[in-house]
Amino acid sequence: MIKKINHIGIAVKNLGLSAEIFSKLFSQTVLHTETVSEQNAAIAFFPIGESSIELIESTSPESAVSKFIDKRGEGIHHICLDVDNIKSEIERLKNHGFQFISEVPSEGGDGYWVAFIHPKSANGVLIELCEKMK
Ligand code: ZN
Repeated sequence: MIKKINHIGIAVKNLGLSAEIFSKLFSQTVLHTETVSEQNAAIAFFPIGESSIELIESTSPESAVSKFIDKRGEGIHHICLDVDNIKSEIERLKNHGFQFISEVPSEGGDGYWVAFIHPKSANGVLIELCEKMK
């Protein structure tokens, strides 16, 4: 079951500079930052009510975020949906014809399992599913 929007991911070139900008926008400092080596990304989260804004800076020129910025510039990169059981949601959505970048959940940072639906099967929108690790 999909429960809510967990966060919206924004691809940025410089996490430090963007964190300053969004700190002013939200009138709060970053909740936490971390490096997710599996995704070659450094991330910062700002909690906004029940959801968050995630700023993502690539840590490798070969990463998906680097390629995204090269192609489309900085901006909204993905929408993340909170699910209660990521494996059963992957199965359910595959049965509806959605294509996953990887059908096996990986560690997404902040204590979540994540899996991404390919944008070509969701109107050009990269969708992340996440489930809090127990
Ligand atoms: Zn995300």
